[in-house]
Amino acid sequence: MKSIRPQSIDEFIGQEKVVQSIKIAIQSSKSRNDHLDHILFYGPPGLGKTTLAKIIAEELKVNLKYATGPSIEKVSDLAGILINLSVNDILFIDEIHRLPKPVEEVLYSAMEDFKLPIVTGAKRSAHTITLNLQPFTLIGATTRFGLISPPLRDRFGMVFHLELYTPEEIMKIVLRDARILGVEITEEGAYEIGKRARGTPRIGIQLLKRVRDFSSVNGFDVITKEVALNAFKNLNIDDYGLNEIDRKYLKILQSNFNGGPAGIEAIATAMGEDRGTIEEIVEPYLIKINFIIRTQKGRIITSTAKEYLGFKSKDSLF
Ligand code: ADP
Repeated sequence: MKSIRPQSIDEFIGQEKVVQSIKIAIQSSKSRNDHLDHILFYGPPGLGKTTLAKIIAEELKVNLKYATGPSIEKVSDLAGILINLSVNDILFIDEIHRLPKPVEEVLYSAMEDFKLPIVTGAKRSAHTITLNLQPFTLIGATTRFGLISPPLRDRFGMVFHLELYTPEEIMKIVLRDARILGVEITEEGAYEIGKRARGTPRIGIQLLKRVRDFSSVNGFDVITKEVALNAFKNLNIDDYGLNEIDRKYLKILQSNFNGGPAGIEAIATAMGEDRGTIEEIVEPYLIKINFIIRTQKGRIITSTAKEYLGFKSKDSLF
């Protein structure tokens, strides 16, 4: 069965500016017959960071070695990976903000001049030998840009922020995935999914599968707008596709802070959640759909969000 993951850069939908820059970098690396500059992707989960890394490897016809920050526990783990890379291969490190510090420090010189300093022997007899590596490209991905240390950040030649997708873009992704999965869906049906996917392709695909299950169990051949709306009602998914944590955020902002302005630290404490997760995963979507506004004094809930929560909006500001 064909994978629903786009295989080439032209199959990748949205993120036009990022895609454009990547195309140029790929062309240039091919014409120089040299390795591609190191790339850092950041943005919420499910936006296509891993997919882009795989596509780049495909386009350059090189191998991609996959690792995650926490899986590279020791310098020797990193050495084992780097030594086994062939010329111009790609090392993809997901959750790169979670690399242990000693590993990160060794990575600096590997990225900069493809040299790997290794300490051998113990205590007095310890000495450093330097291994020469093949030129390679590091592609790092993170949902937490703020946790990347400046020295690591500075060693990436290209740093790309992936934005949330529009409902129309998710609709296109859903239509493409439906074709591959052999699911009949109308544009209007796909658009309803696009509206509820929190700007995230991964959620769009999950919703498509859940709506497909609902429609096949209920004997519908085609997912129309009506079938999709029925499915969402049945699955308890609201018009904005908000999840528990989004709703908790809005309720706390409204009830504990009277709608704001409230500081991120105070909201995070009241929610019992990590500040970074809220800032980098929850808030971008709430801002995008105009449910909250970020001001210098703090976060403010909008009248649209109040109506969503079932409060009557009193202020005329929003
Ligand atoms: P991330 O690494 O950012 O968490 P992934 O690359 O794993 O996200 O993408 C999640 C899913 O969404 C994958 O199945 C991928 O095929 C799909 N996807 C992501 N972005 C796109 C896109 N722009 N076009 C089509 N499918 C996409």
